[in-house]
Amino acid sequence: SDNSTREHNVAKIKVVVRKRPLNKKELAKNEDDVVSVSDYAYLTVHEPKLKVDLTAYVEKHDFCFDAVFDENVTNDEVYRDTVEPIIPTIFERTKATCFAYGQTGSGKTYTMQPLPLRAAEDLVRHLHQPLYRNQNFKLWLSYFEIYGGKLFDLLGDRKKLLMREDGRQQVCIVGLQEFEVSDVQIVGEFIEKGNAARSTGSTGANEESSRSHAILQLAIKKHKEVKEGKRNNNKNEERSGKLVGKISFIDLAGSERGADTTDNDRQTRIEGAEINKSLLALKECIRALDNDQIHIPFRGSKLTEVLRDSFVGNSKTVMISCISPGAGSCEHTLNTLRYADRVK
Ligand code: ADP
Ligand code: MG
Repeated sequence: SDNSTREHNVAKIKVVVRKRPLNKKELAKNEDDVVSVSDYAYLTVHEPKLKVDLTAYVEKHDFCFDAVFDENVTNDEVYRDTVEPIIPTIFERTKATCFAYGQTGSGKTYTMQPLPLRAAEDLVRHLHQPLYRNQNFKLWLSYFEIYGGKLFDLLGDRKKLLMREDGRQQVCIVGLQEFEVSDVQIVGEFIEKGNAARSTGSTGANEESSRSHAILQLAIKKHKEVKEGKRNNNKNEERSGKLVGKISFIDLAGSERGADTTDNDRQTRIEGAEINKSLLALKECIRALDNDQIHIPFRGSKLTEVLRDSFVGNSKTVMISCISPGAGSCEHTLNTLRYADRVK
């Protein structure tokens, strides 16, 4: 296929919504499904309301996005509609980001987990195409999290990491472990290892991981050819290669956590404020990108600073907003949809 013509068809920013099915708990409580997907791009939320005289009525909220996936859409279809079209552009110097946004339990991790695996398969397949076969491109993987405004290496014993800028708008995370991936099988193992290392505290794994942003990056790098018996002076570049393009998969902190700013626990309050700040900064950066603004307000948070090089030049952004269908989640669902609506 012709990669160059395909690239021009890929939108710079794509905002989609994914609705998960009602879960066992919601079904057991007989919760109503308040989200109806009417069309490929439209959905309606039927918000239950109580009148002053305590009679119930329903307020309708209509939304339109680039795509809306209902509960019958598979992970594979989500991949094909969001990430797959971006893959060829990675080889044309694109830095892409794919975010999962939504309240805890809405399906962010379920949606994000398989995407890097599929992307790695496709990236490796591209590497072997005649067009790139002789370029000495290699695929690299790293996985870290931002928790309370600090960076931790999920594939390096949760070592605390520092971010540095090199003056050419390149972001460098000092000490972040990167792994060359020639065999796609190993990507799955890295994802599992990294997930197991995500923040867990006294309150339990899911609770804590909902307060962190997990960032998995797949990078294509060009390596110097090493001729037999003739070693390059610059060993470092020889080993680590030069970045061509990359894609970052970001499983964001639970959007409801940003509201934890009045919690009794001081630590929870600090974390909530940090999450709130980063989700607001993210929205501002994507909007600035969409408006082709020269100044991108990436300094607003650690999250956007880390992703700085993905907000300039050839960038592609996919926002997957995950929503729960239950009546009990209605308020959070509307918040998520309004956030996504403003991003677009
Ligand atoms: P989050 O990461 O947003 O907190 P999860 O991805 O952990 O949410 O999803 C919560 C639960 O719902 C999990 O048990 C997950 O398997 C299930 N789930 C989420 N999305 C779907 C879906 N589209 N289809 C089936 N089950 C889903
Ligand atoms: Mg999760």
